Amino acid sequence: MKCNEVKKNLMNYLDGKVDKELRLLIEGHLNKCSTCREQVSLLNGIADLYRKDSPFPLPQSLKEELTLLIKKSCKK
Ligand SMILES: [Zn+2]
Repeated sequence: MKCNEVKKNLMNYLDGKVDKELRLLIEGHLNKCSTCREQVSLLNGIADLYRKDSPFPLPQSLKEELTLLIKKSCKK
């Protein structure tokens, strides 16, 4: 799996919305790729901040923005 594929699925991964197979692929990539690991902890931090202030799930618009941000940061 490539970085951009991981990043494309990262929000869903953090939401627990990926199937087992995809989850394993993403986790396998994260073990090898520090760049993507950083993105995950960054996203997790943002999601946690949001969750603390609100009982609602992340709005779709915010998810899309974060996904765009991550894609921009990917140069591989
Ligand atoms: Zn990567």
